[in-house]
Amino acid sequence: MITSAVRTLATELTGDDLPAYVYDLTALRAHARAVRDALPPGLELYYAAKANPAPRILQALAPHVTGYEVASGGEVEHVRAAVPGAPLAFGGPGKTEGELRRALTLGVERFHVESEQELRLLAGAAQDAGIPDVDVLLRVNLPVAGAELGGAALAMGGRPSPFGLDPEAVERCLPLFSADSGSPLRLRLCGIHAHLASGLDAPAQVAVAAAIADWAAKLSERHGLGLTEVNVGGGMGVDYAHPDRRFDWAVYGQGMADLALRHPDLTLRIEPGRALTVYCGWYVTEVLDIKHSGGEAFAVVRGGTHHLRTPATKQHDQPFQVLPMDTGNTWTRPWPRPAVRAEPVTLVGQLCTPKDVLAGRIPVEELRVGDRVAFALAGAYAWNISHHDFLMHPRPGFHYLEE
Ligand SMILES: *Cc1c(COP(=O)(O)O)cnc(C)c1O
Repeated sequence: MITSAVRTLATELTGDDLPAYVYDLTALRAHARAVRDALPPGLELYYAAKANPAPRILQALAPHVTGYEVASGGEVEHVRAAVPGAPLAFGGPGKTEGELRRALTLGVERFHVESEQELRLLAGAAQDAGIPDVDVLLRVNLPVAGAELGGAALAMGGRPSPFGLDPEAVERCLPLFSADSGSPLRLRLCGIHAHLASGLDAPAQVAVAAAIADWAAKLSERHGLGLTEVNVGGGMGVDYAHPDRRFDWAVYGQGMADLALRHPDLTLRIEPGRALTVYCGWYVTEVLDIKHSGGEAFAVVRGGTHHLRTPATKQHDQPFQVLPMDTGNTWTRPWPRPAVRAEPVTLVGQLCTPKDVLAGRIPVEELRVGDRVAFALAGAYAWNISHHDFLMHPRPGFHYLEE
């Protein structure tokens, strides 16, 4: 599970160097290449930068992705600077006029428009800037029925949502693109975007993609739009309880290849975040204290959910591996080394809140003060979603390993 490069560094760092985020860029490149190879050649792979926007991560992905999905003015600036020249698709609700202007100035390649008002703001900004033919994808909040997911009792999208446009609202936007509407708009409707769910397995993701592409094709035909692109979003499943059960990119790639054959006029695009980068990062720390309370064992580690908020946000146990520290002078105190053996232990951080739990009641063979713990699946939605300043503990170190 842990790569040998990460394991080596995790045991070499001193206690004061911990906690640390350790990213294995070699593993990330290999994973991204495998994902790319599983997808049909014509399908475009964008990376959703919000999952982990660290420049080294963005750059390691560059040879394997077509572009990046960005969701704020900050991400537009940041990703442009980190990977100059890579195509950007700017999505997300509540884009301000200032952000739209700046994105136009920076030559952002595509805009995912979330509302009619946003479409009008973008048109105005494009006109003021004298920029013609701005490429727009309308984001649709499309209902996808359970039947389309192989009978799974699941309905997604189509529920009241702040994201995207309802199907009727998409149709209401169409006249704003028409050249003979007398409108001064300089926007080109090139396709449809949707991001309807997350955590689905490969067959369900293919079914959702098919529903979106079929709907877009019908819309295009009905109104003679000549749409050329469909972005079916991200949300490829990551199983935190079973890190080895990974999203089946081969099945997904085959399904998307079939879908591409059905829609030869459409370029299909996906924009996963989590499933691309989650596996490449570890949050490494050490056990500071071990005690029992009310008959249960607790291990307090350096750091906590202010660095790795994922388990608190998603209400799961972050998977981890114990790295026993037995060498040399690991234990020099004149009292016995606190330890738990063959019992469940709850791993908590240093915050004064009962919510600072990284993993609860997990059976361990042995865990002692001074042992290292490497939390896995910390490469996405981890450091960058955490409340770093709460309690003013030091920040973790950051290490990017590359062969
Ligand atoms: C967050 C987001 C993604 C990426 O989702 P993952 O679950 O990380 O794959 C893609 N598209 C949009 C619009 C998003 O908001």
